[in-house]
Amino acid sequence: MTVRRALISVSDKTGLEAFGRFLADRGVEILSTGGTFAALRKAGIAVREVSEATGFPEIMDGRVKTLHPTVHGGILGRRDLPAHREAMETHAIAPIDLVVVNLYPFEATVARGADFAETIENIDIGGPAMIRSAAKNHADVAVVVDVEDYEPVMAAMTANDGAVPDTLRQALAAKAYARTAAYDAAISTWFAKVLEVPFPERMTLSGTRTEVLRYGENPHQEAAFYRTAEMRPGVASARQLQGKALSYNNLNDTDAAFELVAEFDSRPAIAIIKHANPCGVAQAESLSAAWDAALACDPVSAFGGIVALNRSLDAATAEKIATIFTEVIVAPDADAAAQEILARKKNLRLLLTGGMPDPLAPGLTWKALAGGFLVQSRDNGRIEAAGLQAVTKRAPTAAEIEDLLFAFRVAKHVKSNTIVYAKGGATVGIGAGQMSRVDAARIAQRKAADAAAAAGLAAPMTQGSVAASDAFFPFADGLEVVAEAGVTAVIQPGGSVRDQEVIDAADAAGIAMVFTGMRHFRH
Ligand code: 5GP
Repeated sequence: MTVRRALISVSDKTGLEAFGRFLADRGVEILSTGGTFAALRKAGIAVREVSEATGFPEIMDGRVKTLHPTVHGGILGRRDLPAHREAMETHAIAPIDLVVVNLYPFEATVARGADFAETIENIDIGGPAMIRSAAKNHADVAVVVDVEDYEPVMAAMTANDGAVPDTLRQALAAKAYARTAAYDAAISTWFAKVLEVPFPERMTLSGTRTEVLRYGENPHQEAAFYRTAEMRPGVASARQLQGKALSYNNLNDTDAAFELVAEFDSRPAIAIIKHANPCGVAQAESLSAAWDAALACDPVSAFGGIVALNRSLDAATAEKIATIFTEVIVAPDADAAAQEILARKKNLRLLLTGGMPDPLAPGLTWKALAGGFLVQSRDNGRIEAAGLQAVTKRAPTAAEIEDLLFAFRVAKHVKSNTIVYAKGGATVGIGAGQMSRVDAARIAQRKAADAAAAAGLAAPMTQGSVAASDAFFPFADGLEVVAEAGVTAVIQPGGSVRDQEVIDAADAAGIAMVFTGMRHFRH
């Protein structure tokens, strides 16, 4: 079916002139609303105003422009039904075969922090109505909601004698409904936020596909990556400078790594991640020193890891990271010399985010379950020194407190149950994802012993370290394991009915222990 009449009403006028000229050159009659009409006419393209076709002016500051039976009858009328054709004739409704609409920029208006009244005015009414009408009648009408689709539609019309083929009309219709659904989701999400309703009765997760991935967590699973409207520097918005496309697991691990390293801002920090858990985290006076300390924690696991940095990557650190097999490096930036060094490593992916996310920012996270999903606020809780309660005979020293807070902040990003040993601003043993806390403590201790043996050290670095537990010790046994490992201080939420037993065990070992009152489970 050849396109003879098009209605173009676009807020984003990118590519409008080329598309309009293409249509006009093919003899397509173009109808447009005020701003679009003016832009096309200025470009010397033949165009009529919608208000001329309807005999009704745009009113109420544009709230009502295209909401008219002449427009909607022209879009919705079925060409295959005599009764519909007759109605069109009776009411002098000319068929519209192509609808090109992009909506008032509601999402961008919210993103720039516009006030309530201005945001409301940026809710498009007539646009979504036309998009939904055209998509419903995709049997006869093509609907274009994305500037990116101008090219393919022009190519299809050129190849098909001015017609848009069936399959393309269907694909455009599906995309059109996804667009109006996302638009309404953005409006309801904004409204819920204004009304301070954290969990509205209905919630639509909305995102734009950035990539279909080769596969999911495993090769027999299909997967894709979607970007939401949240403006948070990280893996979704990062620029990839080199290396092949990231896999599902790479994306998941890179996110975990970057969110973890973002917890540290006062000093250069590095986190090395495997299977979404850290195998080494350190902060130091330089990135290069942080790398050495992070790697020393568990050099065996670091092989094939994801490395996240909280500072612009420099040449010295790039040189060091390049010596071991690394899947991904993610950093806010990288200087030219560092980029040149990594360019030699063809398979290594380098992602630059342009900034660090705020670990204290509010936000939601969700997790799919059979038949539903769980939504919660992001774990943006943070414990500072003033929030610690010393519960043992000995209170921790200033140096111990610094390491305790570091270890607890790392523990927040390790799968539960976890015990994290740290010393001098670096992890020295991490036990992750265990079903019992005592096992997490034992595993971390054993890994530290292995790392020490491999490095030819006399004793594991857990000697003289501190330990963090993501949740309380339910029994004294876990505390006894960390005491055996040689820790001098412990940080944990507290709150167990057996807290006193645990405190007594700490006192017996001369350990200084603090309670945080805040738990950091992560599953
Ligand atoms: P223009 O720049 O052409 O004046 O306006 C284009 C915008 O108006 C498009 O984003 C389109 O979706 C929107 N629009 C078209 N018809 C109507 C209507 O009847 N009411 C409202 N609120 N917006 C409309």
